[in-house]
Amino acid sequence: MNIVLLGAPGSGKGTQSHFLCKEFDLTHLSTGDLLRNEIAKQTPLSQNILETINKGHLVSDELIADLVKKTIEESHTKGLLFDGFPRTQVQAQLLDSILEILNMRLDLVINLLVSREKVIERIVNRYTCIKCGAIYNTLTKPWDSSTKCDSCGASEFKQRSDDREEVVLERYKIYQDQCETLKDYYGGDRGIIFPVDGDQDVSVVWDDIKRETTKRLGR
Ligand code: ADP
Repeated sequence: MNIVLLGAPGSGKGTQSHFLCKEFDLTHLSTGDLLRNEIAKQTPLSQNILETINKGHLVSDELIADLVKKTIEESHTKGLLFDGFPRTQVQAQLLDSILEILNMRLDLVINLLVSREKVIERIVNRYTCIKCGAIYNTLTKPWDSSTKCDSCGASEFKQRSDDREEVVLERYKIYQDQCETLKDYYGGDRGIIFPVDGDQDVSVVWDDIKRETTKRLGR
């Protein structure tokens, strides 16, 4: 089974991806993570990617295509969960053609819907543990009072460089523009898109996603 998870920045894609991969034995393919890996490797492209991300803009379809193709070819997996990809219609067409060549198909597109207010509240207060990557929110899920990570005990936390409010607003706007085209692309006759209310509690969102995915899987 191959699934695409659509959702604005801060919609909870990362959290729900984790649950989905565990429950349905899928390999997580996040283009955001792939790009951050490229930046960390300090390749000739790194600086350009970092500048684009820090403005809240999208990197080129060509670069994304190269990264995704390479990752799928190397993955040898039963099923993939695409997180943050596709983001444009060109990328959606590219995904269809890659899957066709590999004799695979896209089974489900989950569209996580969140309000602009929720996105901003979640992202500008979001921090991750520098050691284990656990996600915290200074308003809704702070780390303990002795400033230690609940999961691993580390005491340093970092904020993503593109999680500043003005960048988040730009990311949200770009997402809204692109998202409409993807809804049309996967809706209509294809009918594989499933909307989920992402403003609900994490566990309620997961219940909705799990129910629908199980149904599609014919379990
Ligand atoms: P979010 O979904 O919260 O924006 P991601 O980690 O998925 O976080 O993406 C971070 C940034 O990486 C995006 O704002 C964009 O600049 C870039 N990016 C990620 N995926 C893509 C993609 N498929 N196409 C173009 N740019 C992308």
